[in-house]
Amino acid sequence: MPTTAPPALVPLASALVAIAGAVIVMTGIIVLRYLLTSGGFAWATRRRHRGLYAGQGGQIRKEIGWSLISCVIYGVPAGVVAWGWHARGWTRITAAPHALPLWWHPVSLLLFLLLHDTWFYWTHRALHSPSLFSRFHAVHHASRPPTAWAAMSFHPGEALSGAFVIPALVFVIPVHVAVLGLVLAIMTVMGVANHMGWEMFPRWLVRGRAGAMLITASHHQRHHQLYAGNYGLYFRLWDRVCGTDRGLGNLLMINPPRS
Ligand SMILES: [Zn+2]
Ligand SMILES: [Zn+2]
Repeated sequence: MPTTAPPALVPLASALVAIAGAVIVMTGIIVLRYLLTSGGFAWATRRRHRGLYAGQGGQIRKEIGWSLISCVIYGVPAGVVAWGWHARGWTRITAAPHALPLWWHPVSLLLFLLLHDTWFYWTHRALHSPSLFSRFHAVHHASRPPTAWAAMSFHPGEALSGAFVIPALVFVIPVHVAVLGLVLAIMTVMGVANHMGWEMFPRWLVRGRAGAMLITASHHQRHHQLYAGNYGLYFRLWDRVCGTDRGLGNLLMINPPRS
C-alpha cells in the first residue's frame, strides 16, 4: 500500500504550512510591536509623571493579558494576507518604488485612516449598546483609568471586529508597502498614546484647529470617563456629524506642572 499523499494534496499541505508559518511570524511581530510601544510609553510615563499608575499593577496585568490575546487574533488575518501577497500576488500592496503616482501616497494614507476611523466609530458606538457592552466592550472599560498597556485590551469578540479592517482594505485600495507601514505605525502609537493618561501633544495643538479635528488622549480619555460619546479613533468627524462629540478632558500635559 502506498503511504504518500495524493499529488493534489501536496501543494495544499505545503500552502497550509506556509500560511501557519506566516501567521506565527505576524503574531510575533504584533506582540513585539505591542510590548515595545506600550512598554516605551509606560517608561515615558514613569519619567514624565511618576506615580501616575500607582496601585494599578493588577489592572495592568489584566490589560497585558487581554492585549496578548488580541495580538494573536490580529495576527491570523495579517498572516494570511501577508502570505497571499508574497506567494499568490493577492492584495493591491506594492513594493515597487514607481508603481503608484507620488500624489497617491498621501491620498492612500488618508483613505486608510478615514475608512478605518469610520469602521471604528460605528462598531464602537454599537458596542456601547447595553447588550453588546456587557458582553464584549466592558473588558476595555474595566481599565479605570486606562494605562499605556490598555491599547489592545479587548474582549476577543471586540478584537475580531477590528482585526479584519486593514487586511480587508489592502484588497481595495492600492497602497505602497511603506505607506501601509506608516498607517500601522500611526494606528499603534495613537492606540497607546490615547490610553496612557497624559497628553503628549502640546496644548496649542490639542486646543487649536488641529485638535478640533484630530483625536488625541484628551479626547479618548473623556470617552473612558463618560462611557458615552467620543467614539472616534483618529478624527472627530463622525462624532461631530452625529452629535456625539463630548469635547476634551483635562489631562496632564507633556510637562508636569512646576512645583
Ligand atoms: Zn468605549
Ligand atoms: Zn479606549
